[in-house]
Amino acid sequence: MAKENWTQVELDASVKAYLEMLTKENEAVFYRKSDYRNQLLSGALNGRTAGSFEYRMQNISYVLDTLGEQYITGYKPAKNVGSNTADLILESLKRNKFIISNDAEPTPDNERLQQRTKRIRRSINLNNKPTGQQNPLKTETTITAYFRDPAVRAWVLENARGKCEACRSDAPFYLPDGYPFLEVHHMIPIALGGPDTIENALALCPNCHRRSHLSKDKDSFNSGIYKKVKRLIK
Ligand SMILES: [Zn+2]
Ligand SMILES: [Zn+2]
Repeated sequence: MAKENWTQVELDASVKAYLEMLTKENEAVFYRKSDYRNQLLSGALNGRTAGSFEYRMQNISYVLDTLGEQYITGYKPAKNVGSNTADLILESLKRNKFIISNDAEPTPDNERLQQRTKRIRRSINLNNKPTGQQNPLKTETTITAYFRDPAVRAWVLENARGKCEACRSDAPFYLPDGYPFLEVHHMIPIALGGPDTIENALALCPNCHRRSHLSKDKDSFNSGIYKKVKRLIK
């Protein structure tokens, strides 16, 4: 199984195929991953296995992901790519005229914004103050919205009696209408098929809400919530 490292020629051929597939995906042109795989395995990647081809594609996704770039969703980023191979993939992307977006460039895509922010923070010099954007450009996006049940929200918020159901703290402030401010959170997101019911929703303070979505320890935090709030059903 342990074959020698991939050559630049092999990586170039893989990157080229990858970028073609990515373009087709973006243009909604039908293609089969297996067609590309078979073609390469009988050509530039002669002697490699289907499994190693798949894995290399996932490595390319990983490199693109670290650049904050879009990758083929069917190839989940696999990060066990040696730094040498990652560099070769990067070189290959450049040779294939893949334009790596400028980190300093404003973006309407929240995920890219997060990734660019993270990279800039790593090497920031606080004495170089960014000038920012006086008139940020705008764009229109399509979003999917779900019909939410007001009775579920009302029940969850009333039942909480002004306390976060995770940390039990009082709501951080009152709204102009006199109600304590808490956020209704769905344990299984509606977008991932979760129901809009009181067995899947609870009232959280903004800190616990963000923690539940974003924190490093969100898995244990969320299983703690399930233990604490008995009405919730996994
Ligand atoms: Zn809380
Ligand atoms: Zn939420």
